[in-house]
Amino acid sequence: MVPDHLNRALRQTIGLLRRPGTGILLATTSTLVLVLSLVGFTAEKSGDQLARKPSLLDLLDEVSRDADSKGVLPGLPPEAPQAASWSSPLARQCSPIDQSMRSRLLAKRRQLPQLRQSIPADPTNYGDRYRRNPWGQDLNPLPRVVILHETVYSLSSAVNTFLTPHPRDEDQVSYHTLVGLDGSIVDVVDPLKRAYGAGYSAFLGEWAVTNPEFQGSVNNFALHLSLETPDDGHDSQGAHSGYTSDQYDALALVLDGWLERFEIDPAAITTHRHVDLGGARGDPRSFSWSHLQDRLTALGRVCQA
Ligand SMILES: [Zn+2]
Repeated sequence: MVPDHLNRALRQTIGLLRRPGTGILLATTSTLVLVLSLVGFTAEKSGDQLARKPSLLDLLDEVSRDADSKGVLPGLPPEAPQAASWSSPLARQCSPIDQSMRSRLLAKRRQLPQLRQSIPADPTNYGDRYRRNPWGQDLNPLPRVVILHETVYSLSSAVNTFLTPHPRDEDQVSYHTLVGLDGSIVDVVDPLKRAYGAGYSAFLGEWAVTNPEFQGSVNNFALHLSLETPDDGHDSQGAHSGYTSDQYDALALVLDGWLERFEIDPAAITTHRHVDLGGARGDPRSFSWSHLQDRLTALGRVCQA
């Protein structure tokens, strides 16, 4: 089972990154990283892992956005509603690794670069991740929560929606990645960018307000993945026949890459249903956490002794 301390650790990390002094901390750490990279040659010679590891702070620089250009609003942003607790269904009851599943997934992982396709969304449907909110407070733009969705209609109709320019803010929508019923993977928005997957949402009591005209959401620090809905789910019923084995394989492989790249805890994989504050989103329906858990176990991501 995923212990409560993981959730607590997440909240503490989030709390640390929300503190007003964090900018100074990050600036200091950036200087440290610069110094470390200057001495990198020596460190590599001595096998120092710290200096060799790609830094998430480098990533922060990559996604940085100067929100100061529009000026700073007086006052404070609206607070997120009270935190809804999240107890991850992953690793609640662990089973041994399924070796044939592991072989299959590792074979697919080797093929991933060929299997994955990129169909970039129209730029109106996504944006940059912000490092500062309109009130001048620091925001941590690093992805640290994964939101699962379903498309309700076919994968191709979802792609068409994202390719269509949406000039009005309220129509803009996107996920980072889509996973088809046949296991196909379509990347729509670069994970370093902010996809518009969940308006009016929060995770563990955290949201980011990046536009004073809208309520907060998790989008500034979320990665969004949507599963193609089976044919019998093209409606608003509460359930359908569920997702395919190929789809769970592909989902696990995309998550495996994201967890590694962004150092995300598997306990921070959640659903649109959970983070939605409007009460209207129930996706992904008919999702099997145990199918995902089996695969993440086989990939060594959860249930490791
Ligand atoms: Zn959704």
